[in-house]
Amino acid sequence: MYNNSFITLPKWHRLLLKAMTVGMFCFFVFAVILYLLYDPGVPFDRELYVRQFIVIPTVSQIVIVSLFGCSVLFLEKHVSDWVMTTILSVCVTSYLGVMVSIHNSVPEMSILLIYPIFGATIYNSRRIMIMQCIITMSVYFVIKSFIIPKVTLYVPINTNRTYFIIFIGLTLGAVIISFLLRSVSTEIVKKSIKEKEKLEIAARCDQMTGFYNHRTFYEVLNEKINSFDGNSRFSLIVFDIDNFKRVNDRFGHASGDKIILKAVDIIKENIRNSDSAFRYGGEEFAVIISDAGEDTAAKIAGRIVNSFYNRKNDFEFNNEKFSISAGAAEYTGGSAEEFFNSADSALYYAKNHGKNQCVKYSEFILNKT
Ligand code: GH3
Ligand code: MG
Ligand code: MG
Repeated sequence: MYNNSFITLPKWHRLLLKAMTVGMFCFFVFAVILYLLYDPGVPFDRELYVRQFIVIPTVSQIVIVSLFGCSVLFLEKHVSDWVMTTILSVCVTSYLGVMVSIHNSVPEMSILLIYPIFGATIYNSRRIMIMQCIITMSVYFVIKSFIIPKVTLYVPINTNRTYFIIFIGLTLGAVIISFLLRSVSTEIVKKSIKEKEKLEIAARCDQMTGFYNHRTFYEVLNEKINSFDGNSRFSLIVFDIDNFKRVNDRFGHASGDKIILKAVDIIKENIRNSDSAFRYGGEEFAVIISDAGEDTAAKIAGRIVNSFYNRKNDFEFNNEKFSISAGAAEYTGGSAEEFFNSADSALYYAKNHGKNQCVKYSEFILNKT
């Protein structure tokens, strides 16, 4: 199935539908203005003008745009990309064909009929592009050979002034349409980028805390490890709130969530922009500290542990003391999992030796042996 990184096929159809509707309106207004101002310097058959430049094109374009609109609204979900693209090609080329047919006194305009081929570059599929070219060329041939010669020649072009007016009109029309198309397509691209970013953020972040999630943690950690050259140090702190099951049991799950968010705020307050924080699990967090060794990481972790324990104005919890434990380690080599395990083993040492503290991996190794 068709898939472009920015504009999907349905979005492209809707963009074209908008452009065709706006173009139709502009053309109608332009024809009415010309009707009021036009002075070709030859007998001016106003009735013929109204028929050829206002009634016929407006009615034909309304029919074409409505057909296309109905296809986009009702058929798009039920037919294949191929069928939709065929309908689209026929509609767009016929729409331009109307313009070209009524301006048969300006044969150069028939080149407009080739334009849909350029539009076909939007498709990511070579087969659809080839089909678009075939349809466009066929409709072009039919309109140029059978329809244009039959349309009444409104007035032969016999003055430079008339040429000038037509030239200005065509140029203005092209400029207006291209600006409109550009603004609409820019809007669509911007929206698509925003949607994509939102999806990416949703996939990378934890919804409740806004921290990066477990998956992103390993992505970032692996990136750091891959670019590690021994010159730039970095460390890891892992946190786990103490006795959290009891917090949930005593105060309820919703209050437990609030405690998690308090820990998040305190972690954010104590790290720099260059550090990255992750929600590793339920009430477990990991922080990668850039350009820092184990001692610095342990200092930062110590500040967080103390701030969490000494939270002020925690009236909701009757100023009850809650605590968090941490383990800190500096990267010296090995895989992401091994590195995580070293900080985690320091954390569990902290848990088993009183909690509410940060233990360095080096301390854990020293005391283990
Ligand atoms: P320890 O001091 O050893 O860490 O004891 P603990 O009770 O905190 O044990 P553990 O870390 O294993 O418990 C985690 C608990 O956190 C279990 C789970 O019910 C709870 N939890 C996990 N995610 C959430 C969450 O998003 N909100 C709330 N309220 N509770 C959660
Ligand atoms: Mg836990
Ligand atoms: Mg815990």
